[in-house]
Amino acid sequence: AQSPVTVLGLGLMGTALASALLKAGHPTTVWNRTASKTGPLAAQGATPADTARDAITASPLTIVCLTTNKDVRALLAPEAESLAGRTVVNLTNGTPAQARELAAWAADHGITYIDGGIMAVPQMIATPGAYILYSGTDEAAFATHRPTLQALADTKWVGKDPGLAALYDLSLLTGMYGMTMGVAQAYALIGSEGIPAGEFAPLLRDWVAAMTDAIVPETAAAVDTGQHLTDVSNLAMNREAFTNFLQAYAEQGLRTELFEPLQGLLDRAVEEGHGADGLSRLVTLLKQS
Ligand code: NDP
Repeated sequence: AQSPVTVLGLGLMGTALASALLKAGHPTTVWNRTASKTGPLAAQGATPADTARDAITASPLTIVCLTTNKDVRALLAPEAESLAGRTVVNLTNGTPAQARELAAWAADHGITYIDGGIMAVPQMIATPGAYILYSGTDEAAFATHRPTLQALADTKWVGKDPGLAALYDLSLLTGMYGMTMGVAQAYALIGSEGIPAGEFAPLLRDWVAAMTDAIVPETAAAVDTGQHLTDVSNLAMNREAFTNFLQAYAEQGLRTELFEPLQGLLDRAVEEGHGADGLSRLVTLLKQS
């Protein structure tokens, strides 16, 4: 028989998680602050609990997925006694420092804490390609619960520092947001002459994919070796070329706010003497000195 699981927080994501556990045959207890959200899951066979405490004591494993870690802290703080000796897997998005703080609180109360970062939207839960990053001091507890967690998405353990799952998660999402914002600016620019986004999309897709394949590994090699000198495309040239972008946006009736900080960064790179280096040098310039 599959092991019992509790899910606290039945928003878009929590509902998808609980539903996947039910489909995998886990006896699933659910709780949500707004009780009406348990309805659809109860119809799928979940057991709704009246209080978070009742939900926690129903299972050795509690998965929590709320809006922020502040909400998690507020919800779990009064439940430390009920959680003692059990495992909490926190799939709420947050920072490494927040995860470490929750882990320290849990350790003080005899609670096993595993932090997680979901690399999927709710519709992707329990489908191929989706995965969840996990980290925590107790790797053996993760191994114990891994078969259960595997029902949600593929599992990727990233280490014993509880902050690592959030670090990987935010680093991956950083790449995604950068790309998404670039795509937004590209569609705004092409659209400034009435060209439909859908017509431009195949070109943009192939270009971004090809650049991703080149830039991601080449930048990694430069960062890891500290060798930023380039014979491909240097910062001095990029800085000059970049003024064309801001000028074109303005000429085409677009706002320049999104790319202006990038111009500032390129200017600083050249001013600080890195004009002959490639764009990989920017990685080092993003550290607060
Ligand atoms: P929703 O806004 O749909 O749901 C938020 C949930 O948090 C609700 O169940 C809400 O309860 C609950 N909640 C908020 N504050 C409190 C509180 N103080 N006490 C108790 N419950 C509280 O968000 P999602 O489900 O989409 O996201 C949840 C987490 O998952 C977020 O951290 C998000 O970043 C992360 N995530 C989401 C993804 C997505 O695509 N949706 C992708 C990857 C991660 P109530 O119903 O009562 O308001």
